[in-house]
Amino acid sequence: GASLPATKQRIERAWGRRCFDHAGATEVGAWGFECGAEPGLHANEGEFICEVIDPATGAPAREGELVITNLGRPGMPVIRYRTGDKVIVNDAPCACGRSFLRFDGGVIGRIDDALVVRGINVFPSAIENIVRRFPAVGEFSVHVRRRKSLDEMEVQIETQAPDPEALAAAVGREIHSALGLRARVTPVGFGTLPRFDLKARRFTDHRKKI
Ligand SMILES: [Zn+2]
Repeated sequence: GASLPATKQRIERAWGRRCFDHAGATEVGAWGFECGAEPGLHANEGEFICEVIDPATGAPAREGELVITNLGRPGMPVIRYRTGDKVIVNDAPCACGRSFLRFDGGVIGRIDDALVVRGINVFPSAIENIVRRFPAVGEFSVHVRRRKSLDEMEVQIETQAPDPEALAAAVGREIHSALGLRARVTPVGFGTLPRFDLKARRFTDHRKKI
């Protein structure tokens, strides 16, 4: 989550240090890093061939799925591996002087991650970025349900704030103004939502798949 500006700020504030993101996938290795000069991630093109494709057509794209070929792993070479990670290419030269490919905002989500709620594409990373702007919110959890053919999104937030309802309303307003989507934001007691050590699973889609 260190490519999410609000999450990164919280980590940096908690540790009193700068935080650098890096990215990798078990199947190919650690393929990307943050240089510190500008936000976003560089691909390590000395070790990897990185391509971005439209996941539907396979055609080269500026925004789409990251495809990786690793060059330096004799034990597990992978050719044009589809990572499922969504990235946006930034062509402008970076202030650090590297000419490696770079991606705005790092990995901005999973290709299959976007939930369509009332016709709006909702990326979990977008919700996380909003929720993390509120220091009084601890863990959170998102549930999408369908009621009478209408999609509903509920965001549960853990908080010990003196006025949890006011905090929930403020989070709801932020989500609405950022995504154009009304979400029901519900405050819950501290320590009641699940914790995650590695990959967080904070989003549950309860709608029946068609
Ligand atoms: Zn750079």
